[in-house]
Amino acid sequence: MLRLSQVQSEEIIAHCQAAYPKEACGLLAGVADQPEAVVQVYAMTNVEDSPIGYAMDPKEQLLVEKQMRTRGQRLIGIYHSHTASAAYPSSVDVRLAISADTSYVLVSLKDRQRPELKSYRIQGTTIISEEVQVETAAGGRRIASP
Ligand SMILES: [Zn+2]
Repeated sequence: MLRLSQVQSEEIIAHCQAAYPKEACGLLAGVADQPEAVVQVYAMTNVEDSPIGYAMDPKEQLLVEKQMRTRGQRLIGIYHSHTASAAYPSSVDVRLAISADTSYVLVSLKDRQRPELKSYRIQGTTIISEEVQVETAAGGRRIASP
């Protein structure tokens, strides 16, 4: 399961909308004692600058990883957008997946009026759908996916 606040979910979707029609990517940080909850969203630059793929800038990535360490955070997820396809990992996404402990968050802007955010775990070549809980400021929760 992955837990996001309403604000974080809006932040991720806004970043993806801003990058459209190119793909957007970013990192999600959590803390050790609450590994399911996102504490900070780090929007990253897609150096591939492409509508069909993404790559993070290794220098920017190192900098953010350093910031996470300083803040007592750790990497719990990676997000990117699909501008013309569903919120489901592509074969390239599966091939590039590095860890089964990481949430792979996909935002589909196939229908830009209705962005879809989903999360997966990728173990080898197996894609496992993961529940996403978006918590509203009022304390209510909206459960999206699987
Ligand atoms: Zn993808």
